[in-house]
Amino acid sequence: MDITDQIKKLKKEKNAIILAHNYQLPEVHDIADFVGDSLGLSMTAAKTDADVIVFCGVHFMAETAKILSPDKIVLLPDKKAGCPMADMIDAEGLQALQAQHPHAVTLCYVNTSANVKAHCDYCCTSSNALKMVQHILKSHEEIIFIPDKYLAQYVSAQVGRKFITWEGFCPTHARLLPENILQARELHPQAKVLAHPECRPEITALADMVASTEKMCSFVHNDPAVEFIIATEIGIIHRLKKENPEKIFYPASDKAACPNMKRINLEKILWSLQDLEYEIKVSRDTMDKARRAIERMLQIT
Ligand code: SF4
Repeated sequence: MDITDQIKKLKKEKNAIILAHNYQLPEVHDIADFVGDSLGLSMTAAKTDADVIVFCGVHFMAETAKILSPDKIVLLPDKKAGCPMADMIDAEGLQALQAQHPHAVTLCYVNTSANVKAHCDYCCTSSNALKMVQHILKSHEEIIFIPDKYLAQYVSAQVGRKFITWEGFCPTHARLLPENILQARELHPQAKVLAHPECRPEITALADMVASTEKMCSFVHNDPAVEFIIATEIGIIHRLKKENPEKIFYPASDKAACPNMKRINLEKILWSLQDLEYEIKVSRDTMDKARRAIERMLQIT
């Protein structure tokens, strides 16, 4: 029996589902039950009757799935698959910032640990961050927006208001430089440039469209253009090609590959299912508090 069949057999025996983030390796996309962004996947998994969720992504994503499915077993196939951006802030650092700004509302990007989310008023994703900010500004003057300074800057420019920010960023998206976009444009003058808001402002300024991964997928599907330059983690290109075989995609740079996302492969998924490892554990109290920030976001978006 090959590894794919072994995974499928075990998945059935354990009543498990496999979730793959858009940035995972192609073979992981292909074995997954669902491919998408971290919140969408976690919400989808919560609606299933699976007993076990294998989350092929990074640690905060598996934690988010656990927060939304507290009674299911959530597994991360590689325990070292973390997100450097999420690890740039901890609860103590956030509390110190909040103490300096006692009247501010705290909005955290979903790329944060459960512990950090537990200290936040609202959560947001890259696709609803603008909407969340607009909602909060109706009743509050100050927003602490953590941890991604580039996403915060992008939203700040759209609403014309400054936020209290954190020096966090995604090292993978930060590798994309303006010259990458300019070179790709020169090589492919017909292509539209799609950039993720985790990119530097110099990149988003050059893009035809700034969008989250899920919005990129729907944009490509509905847009008449045939060629696209993709300025985000390169893993998404496998999904884009699969869903749009008649279109052509160019990575803005091959260097935009997240080493943490690429830690998971078919062998690790198999071992994860065999040994039920590595199980995500979050205290009930932290989960309940973190869920509040997510639920408050869902009520608004
Ligand atoms: S691509 Fe960036 S934000 Fe996403 S997991 Fe990797 S380091 Fe974190």
